[in-house]
Amino acid sequence: MKYQASMSSRKRAAAFEHIQKEYYDLIVIGGGITGAGIALDASSRGLKTLLLEKQDFAAGTSSRSTKLIHGGLRYLKQLEIGLVREVGKERAILHKNVPHLVHPRKMLLPIRDTGTLSENSTSMALYIYDWLAGVKSEERRLMLDTEEMLEKEPLLREDGLTGGGMYYEYMTDDARLTVEVLKTATQFGAQPLNYAEVEAYLYDVHEKAIGVKVRDVKSDQVMPVYGKVMVNAAGPWVDDMREKDNSMNERHLLLTKGVHLVFSRERFPIDHLIYFDVQVDDRMMFAIPRGDSVYLGTTDTVYKEQIERPSVSQSDIDYLLEAANFMFPKLQLTRDDIESSWAGLRPLVHEEGKSPSAISRKDEVFHAKSGVISIAGGKLTGFRKMAERVVDLAMVRLRKEYGMPIQLCRTDRIKLSGSETLKRKKLTKYIQGLETHANGQGLSLSILKSLVYKYGMNTERLLSIYRENQQVTEGSEQALLRAELHYCIDNEMVMSLSDFLIRRTGRLYFERPALAGQYPYLLDEIARELAWTAEQKMADLEEFEREYRAVMSFQTVEV
Ligand SMILES: Cc1cc2nc3c(=O)[nH]c(=O)nc-3n(C[C@H](O)[C@H](O)[C@H](O)COP(=O)(O)OP(=O)(O)OC[C@H]3O[C@@H](n4cnc5c(N)ncnc54)[C@H](O)[C@@H]3O)c2cc1C
Repeated sequence: MKYQASMSSRKRAAAFEHIQKEYYDLIVIGGGITGAGIALDASSRGLKTLLLEKQDFAAGTSSRSTKLIHGGLRYLKQLEIGLVREVGKERAILHKNVPHLVHPRKMLLPIRDTGTLSENSTSMALYIYDWLAGVKSEERRLMLDTEEMLEKEPLLREDGLTGGGMYYEYMTDDARLTVEVLKTATQFGAQPLNYAEVEAYLYDVHEKAIGVKVRDVKSDQVMPVYGKVMVNAAGPWVDDMREKDNSMNERHLLLTKGVHLVFSRERFPIDHLIYFDVQVDDRMMFAIPRGDSVYLGTTDTVYKEQIERPSVSQSDIDYLLEAANFMFPKLQLTRDDIESSWAGLRPLVHEEGKSPSAISRKDEVFHAKSGVISIAGGKLTGFRKMAERVVDLAMVRLRKEYGMPIQLCRTDRIKLSGSETLKRKKLTKYIQGLETHANGQGLSLSILKSLVYKYGMNTERLLSIYRENQQVTEGSEQALLRAELHYCIDNEMVMSLSDFLIRRTGRLYFERPALAGQYPYLLDEIARELAWTAEQKMADLEEFEREYRAVMSFQTVEV
């Protein structure tokens, strides 16, 4: 029987068996948004593709960003005109192809008499930006006076406020976007595997890379896997993988850490996304409402410690709170108001003499003598275009060395999993339709909205699991959470409680206070579904509880 690629956790062991017998056109190392995008691009061009991720999908930087699909306004300040154009176009493509995960939101840009922005320069910059990024007419910038700004956001600092700009940014969920891209790649035959660490490259006698040695982190089994082209999309670990290939040169990564803090919306009651000047330096910061929370970020500091688990320090907190309390003086936020946090590492390509914030966010491709292609830098927003560039390069190699026909990129026309027939303008109508259908099943419009904003049209599959199981469990909240977990086990390769509560649902960041009552029964459920031993269950609980504590434990001394 023909092998069918799958993201079911139950079929993961069989997938490891299978990959040892295959000969892949492309092996992608890294299951963040960059690797996921490459896997989708390659598989949709007909390439036999394998993606290997050593942790969970998106567990690196791709679950720790500001979660914005930028139009590229900040690049305008650095005069990176080409980049503004490209990301503006990319944003529109993403909005069309995955409307359940990319949502336009109004962003306010306060102008202060002491700030880096003036009304004229802001108005002009936003005008040029609208034009370069091809912004739709209904989303073009609006300049507001002080009263109008305060009417929209009464918590803004009044003294010194001279007005502001309003434009649109698009919000997303970085980890879910990564998973939806991978699910779509799977539909084209790509096989993604999480907890699959590439330990080394395999070479032929001419020192050309012909495969990788991969370890199934869950079983500790090590195996060779062979392929024609290897792509290193390991984000902050790109240089580690280049070192394993002996292909480092003078161009190398500079990692910078970015921290976000989460507050309850009740404690930080704002209605718009706000992008404001930091008083103590020339940086800017976001305050972003999301459901019942608001998150604040970010920092940008050079990072030289271990990459796996960047942590939040007291000085990160001081910096963020000071900036927020200056811009929203009535709030007087303190450390006690923090409900959760995360820290991520930007894999930037080092530029001599430039501060972290001034370094270009452009991506860069390295082509090693061994044939390994590495891609570093870039943004979540530009992942599709980055993938196109990498797979174009791979195609040229595959034609030259293996006589394969060149296939062109078509990801700009591929609707992602969950958005197959969903139209951006019909999202609200779709959710209302679900509510009508679910009448009397304990599912409010806001619950359905939050599900559709995660799973798109796959919500219907999740709801059918919910209906099947509702009789045997207690409340509807529990039944729904269990159904969500089942859906993720069968379709999104959830292998641990942390995968589910951090990357698939974002609950650890945005709903932490409610988690204490939920994770014990979810642990029982996942342990039963994946047939864990008592030791496996205990180890997973310990791992989750470590993460649960980590988002609220802050280092007092910077290490
Ligand atoms: C604080 C912060 C805010 C940001 N905000 C935004 C934003 O709002 N909008 C935006 O567009 N961009 C934003 N970015 C940038 C964006 O998040 C990153 O560019 C993007 O997530 C990088 O994705 P990646 O796939 O390259 O790296 P990662 O997501 O880190 O993925 C690399 C993966 O490779 C895996 N890996 C490493 N070594 C191996 C190995 N040996 N074998 C197998 N797998 C391996 C890792 O486990 C990891 O999961 C932000 C970044 C940060 C840090």
